[in-house]
Formats: sequence, structure tokens, C-alpha cells
Amino acid sequence: MDKNGVSAPNRWVGGHAVVLGASVSGLLAARVLADVYDRITLIERDRVSEVGVAARRGVPQGRHAHGLLSRGAEIFEELFPGLLEDFVAGGAPIVSSPAELRNNLGGHLLCMTGEYTELSDTYQPSRPHLESLVRTRVMGLPNVKLIDGCQVVGLETTDDNARVLGVEVLYAGDGTTDLVHADLVVDATGRAGRATKWLDAMGYQLPPEESLQVDLLYVSQYLRPAPGSMGREKVVIIGHTPTRPTGAEYLEQEDGRWILTLIGYGGHHPPTDQAGFLAFAEPIVPPHVFASIRDAEPLSEAVAHRFPATIRRRYEKLSRFPEGLLVVGDAICSFNPIYAQGMTVAAIQAETLQKTLQDGTDRLAQRFFKAVSKPLGVTWQMATGSDLSIPQVEGPRPLSVRMVNAYINMVLTAAERDSVLAERFLKVQYLLVLPTTLMRPGTMARVLAGNLRRRR
Ligand SMILES: Cc1cc2nc3c(=O)[nH]c(=O)nc-3n(C[C@H](O)[C@H](O)[C@H](O)COP(=O)(O)OP(=O)(O)OC[C@H]3O[C@@H](n4cnc5c(N)ncnc54)[C@H](O)[C@@H]3O)c2cc1C
Repeated sequence: MDKNGVSAPNRWVGGHAVVLGASVSGLLAARVLADVYDRITLIERDRVSEVGVAARRGVPQGRHAHGLLSRGAEIFEELFPGLLEDFVAGGAPIVSSPAELRNNLGGHLLCMTGEYTELSDTYQPSRPHLESLVRTRVMGLPNVKLIDGCQVVGLETTDDNARVLGVEVLYAGDGTTDLVHADLVVDATGRAGRATKWLDAMGYQLPPEESLQVDLLYVSQYLRPAPGSMGREKVVIIGHTPTRPTGAEYLEQEDGRWILTLIGYGGHHPPTDQAGFLAFAEPIVPPHVFASIRDAEPLSEAVAHRFPATIRRRYEKLSRFPEGLLVVGDAICSFNPIYAQGMTVAAIQAETLQKTLQDGTDRLAQRFFKAVSKPLGVTWQMATGSDLSIPQVEGPRPLSVRMVNAYINMVLTAAERDSVLAERFLKVQYLLVLPTTLMRPGTMARVLAGNLRRRR
């Protein structure tokens, strides 16, 4: 494998693959497809080649806190060897000890003492930094080309709509349109889900949708706190509790810059004016964190991002799907961002696509959708279960959800003082292991013992 992670192709497909959208899932898909297709063309509406390391219009979430979970980091590194070192060389902090992570979930502060015995370091690049380094790696692949400042406006198909033949594009510069022929078209255009509109127009059934109205507002600001004001802490996460539907993330990023993101569910949205923003943060974060925020130099305005609902499109349930089309990333499943799962799930999808391509391209989409539905389902359950722990989110709360939430609360209670349990919980949160690992007898015994000690 060379520096760009290019390995010998498992099964050569040849031909031309077109990937729509050059954000995280589009870039990861392009990287995987480059192993087996002759040519890959990434088509992106924003002029990303001019953006550099900055947030951009097509990815407005880039102005908000973005955590990269360990499972995602592992896959990024497998696909782009040395990428994690590049993050650090570009100034991204590494979190390697519990003392550096203040993770307060459901009102329980995970144990901050001891050392991790199984977890490896986590990396904290800002979202624009991460995306620009991944983009540089993908653009370094000899068979990948980017057409940016170019919007995809439709699909070209056979007369019977059984196969996609390419895409119709509109150039922002001169307003001209063109057809780009392709053997495979990958929709990575994000949660709006353009593929569903195209499928509808082509006479296909739409994927059944699951959704949870969360009515979240993110408000974020870049800050430069006084050096040392946060001690050893590099990550502060304060999640919602059953009685407080608000939260905060305060993350160190490149070169001493921090990002503060305040989050509120419906009816509890953070304000964007400076005084209101600070006042919103004060009751959520501990005093030393508030002092660091209050005394920090603001580096930007506070900007808002509304996130109305989570969406999961069940493509694996469709009996008919056109050949030559695939959907990846947020276009399949858009998670509540507070759990920081989106980029990692995009990486899991890329890894799954790589495995699916080992059996060629026949019924590629159907086989891919089926294969990703399992990891997506687990992650979806984790996120929606946690959302349903607060009354502001409406939805069915069957006994199973209530029991899991009660048990997680017990795990978190015990993990306040038990560093081993805190690490086991983090491995689940970072999508390294399944949540069922928390039900193993040894772990349940620790949970019970910890809760009994707390009661006494
Ligand atoms: C507020 C917020 C915070 C988040 N925090 C985290 C976090 O902490 N950790 C995490 O892992 N994930 C987080 N996420 C999710 C993460 O940003 C996404 O999962 C990730 O970007 C992958 O999405 P994507 O590539 O599928 O789509 P997107 O990132 O939405 O990108 C879609 C791309 O398609 C382009 N495009 C759209 N339409 C067209 C068109 N017609 N023609 C050409 N190009 C087009 C856009 O310009 C864009 O580049 C967060 C999301 C939000 C909203």
C-alpha cells in the first residue's frame, strides 16, 4: 500500500464511476472505488478547490463541533495510511488520557482518573481541517478527477429506467449544462436525499423512512482561551439529562483555537447574541469551563444550525433498484449530530462498499444496502434510544427502550468512579464494539457493585 492507501485491486471492474458530492462520504467512496474503476469523477457544487481549510456553503455543519470517533479514525487510517499523523502535523490535538476528556452524559461525569488500557488515542481535527486533508489524499490518487462549482441536476437513464447511464450537470460559472456518462453513479449529496426524488421520477418505490423529530439548534463560536485555562482537559462534552434538554461541547482544535457549541432541543434553543450565548452556557458547564469561555478571545460570531429531525432511509427494503446507482452517507441515514456518529458511519459504509465490491458490481446497490443496514441499525438504536430519554422528543418508548435507558443510566452511574467501566462504555460510544458488550456478566457485576456502593 502506498501513501495514498492505494492497494492492489481485489477485483477489477474498470469503467467510469461518478461520485456526487465531495464531502466526507463522497471522498471516502471515491477512495474505495479508485481501487477497482479506471476513472473516478467527483462532482461538487461548491468550489472546494478554492476553499482550502475553511467551512463552506454545502457543508454548513463544518462551523460546528465535530468529533471523530475511534472506529472512524481507524478506518480513515486504513484507507489513507498516515492520515492521523497528518491531522497532528496540522495542529490537531490528540486525546490519550482520561484526564483530558470531560465527558458528562445523562448527568454522570465519566471517571477522569487512571489510564486507558485498551482505547488508543483519539484525534481532534476541526471539520474543515479533516475534510481538506482527506480531499488532498483523494485528489492525489492518479485516477480521480474533481469537477467543482458544478451541480448535479438530474440522472440520465435507459428508456426503461432499469439502468443509470450518467448525470446531467449544471456549471455555476457559465450556466451551461452537460451530460457525464458513467458506469456507476454514487449519490453522496447529503441528507436532502436527491436519489429519492430521482427514483420517484423514474417510477421506483421510495425507501421507507424512519424519523425522529428532535428539533435541535446548534450555536457555535470559535474562541481562543487563555493558555492553561482548561488544565489538561482538551474535550468537554456535556450531554442532555432527563431534566435538562440542553448540552455543550467545548473542544480544543488546531493551534490553540477552541470551538464552543451549545445545543438545545425544542423550546430550549441557544441564542446567538454574545450575552445570551454566554448566559446559556453558564448553567450547563462547570465553573472552570465557564471561566475559560468567558475570558476567551472570540474569534468568530456565534452561528446557528438547525437540525429538525433524524432520518433513516431503508433502501435495503426495496425490491427494485436501478443498476448503476448507489446511495451513501447522510443520504441514507442522518443521525442526531450530538452523538458524533455521521463521519464514522460514512467510514463504515466505505469499508462495507470495499467488501461488497469484492463480489463484483452485479446487484451492487442491493448487496451494499443490505450489508450496511446492520451497523446502521445498531447506531440508529443507540442514538434514538438516548434521544427518547428526554421528554422533549416525542416517539414510542417501548419497554425495551425504557429498560436499556435505565441500564445505561446504571452503567454511567457506576462509570463515574470505575475507570474500567468508563473505558468499556467509551468503546461502545466510539462504535468500536457492540452495545451488547455492556451486558456481559463481568461488566454487569461491576455495574451492580458500583450502583450499590453509590446507594450506600
Ligand atoms: C450540526 C452538525 C454537527 C455534526 N457533528 C458531527 C460530529 O461531531 N461527528 C460526526 O462524525 N459527524 C457529525 N455530523 C455529521 C457529518 O457532518 C456528516 O455525517 C458527514 O459530513 C457525512 O455527510 P455526507 O458526506 O454524506 O454529506 P454532506 O456532508 O452533507 O455533504 C454533501 C455534499 O454534497 C454536495 N452537494 C449537494 N448537492 C449537490 C448537487 N446537486 N450537486 C453537486 N454537489 C452537491 C454538498 O456541497 C456537499 O459537499 C454533524 C452534522 C451536523 C448537521
